[in-house]
Amino acid sequence: MLRLKSLVPMLLLAGLFAAPQLPAQTAQAPMPSQAMIQLGNEATNWLQDLIRINTTNPPGNELAAAKYIGAILDKEGIHYEIFETAPGRGFIVARLSSTPVPDPARALLLMGHLDVVGVDRSKWTVDPFGGVINGGYLYGRGAVDDKAMTIANLATLIELKRTNAHLNRDVIFLAEPDEEDGGTQGMQVIVDKYWDKIAAGFAINESGQVAMKDGKVQYVGVQVSEKVAANVDVVAKGTSGHASIPLKDNPIAHLAAAITKISAYEPPAEFDSVTRAYFETLSNVEDEDTAKWMKVLETPDRGDHAARIISDENPVWAAMIHNTISPTILEAGVRRNVIPAEAKAVLNIRLLPGDSLEVTLAKLTSLVNDPEISFSIEPGTSEPAPSSSVTSDLYQAITHVAATEFPGAPVTPYLSTGATDSSFLRERNVQAYGLLPFPLTEADRLTMHADNERIPLDSFHKGIDFLYTVVSDFAVEK
Ligand SMILES: [Zn+2]
Repeated sequence: MLRLKSLVPMLLLAGLFAAPQLPAQTAQAPMPSQAMIQLGNEATNWLQDLIRINTTNPPGNELAAAKYIGAILDKEGIHYEIFETAPGRGFIVARLSSTPVPDPARALLLMGHLDVVGVDRSKWTVDPFGGVINGGYLYGRGAVDDKAMTIANLATLIELKRTNAHLNRDVIFLAEPDEEDGGTQGMQVIVDKYWDKIAAGFAINESGQVAMKDGKVQYVGVQVSEKVAANVDVVAKGTSGHASIPLKDNPIAHLAAAITKISAYEPPAEFDSVTRAYFETLSNVEDEDTAKWMKVLETPDRGDHAARIISDENPVWAAMIHNTISPTILEAGVRRNVIPAEAKAVLNIRLLPGDSLEVTLAKLTSLVNDPEISFSIEPGTSEPAPSSSVTSDLYQAITHVAATEFPGAPVTPYLSTGATDSSFLRERNVQAYGLLPFPLTEADRLTMHADNERIPLDSFHKGIDFLYTVVSDFAVEK
């Protein structure tokens, strides 16, 4: 069932008077200056070095990476501070000031995380911590997520300093630990204990995308909100006994039945202003058949069918318009010949902004309809945060720079299915935007968290150029 709101008549009209296709990318993007080419080459070395510092989380050991960045800032004469959030873990923060007394409401925070997810070395064709360059790609864990972003932020800060840019707001650089494991030893500590070091009205962080398709940038997605993550334990309790005497309340059987019912559940498609704008923009750049369905996602007669087709076409789109439930862990049994007293599963639930976990759990409880099964929410559920504005000066700067850098590619707000450290900022009313600035194909994007993570070097350089231009547009006096 669709959630029909007052926008439906407008969308129906939009369907009747279909928006014209955007012009092809005929205009040329500006060529990078010699200084930016040199900066890009330096940044490649920094990224290689940073990949070589293994910050797999846990344990993270991000302090070594923070110190490495500190040494680069030393050479540039940029003051910085490093703080430990836990033994061996910490963050680095540096600031280019625009005024003697900081004005946090105007400041721009450039942030990236230092930790990375683990690797299965046997599946990699190169050393994941070698910083290997091959065939125009830089390989390594963190090559995209998120060391490339951290280095792009660093390069931007350094170029502002080298050019003596006349700033109209402070630009703050932050590289933080523990993003990949929830931020309890990272962003949570930073916002609780060191807020004055990073206080800003605006932020640019990871997520979002400069989406490449068929050799050109298709669109620029700016992450303005994200789904809320929760882990829920599903526990079945029964009678323990000898496996030779089967019991009707066997918790493994009850849990398996419950998980089967939960997995078959299809939550309704839901849209908010962000996903509405996203699909509307995409309907102008996607192939005709896909676009046709995107345009009718919220119509009463064809909406359900359209949502199903879009969801089947791309699991990311499916996750953007539904609350999702992924069973991720099963635990049961102690001996082959013993019926256990308990069986447990973990559900990783991702809710659309504004939806309630209690309502979802009530739905699952009635669906499972088994008194032997109970649900309990694990601690650490992320807090819902408000969306960032699509009319702020920073969002407009991104739109306007993207029009020059990627002619013909529209900019759209984007809801990310994954969680980022931006939620900590949005809870404090920071206008935070996910703008991973590197033009990447879906295939390259999917190497994040996967084997053989890699970034094309020309995309890395282009992304630095794009980010630097956005920051200059927003923070440098003209
Ligand atoms: Zn990341």
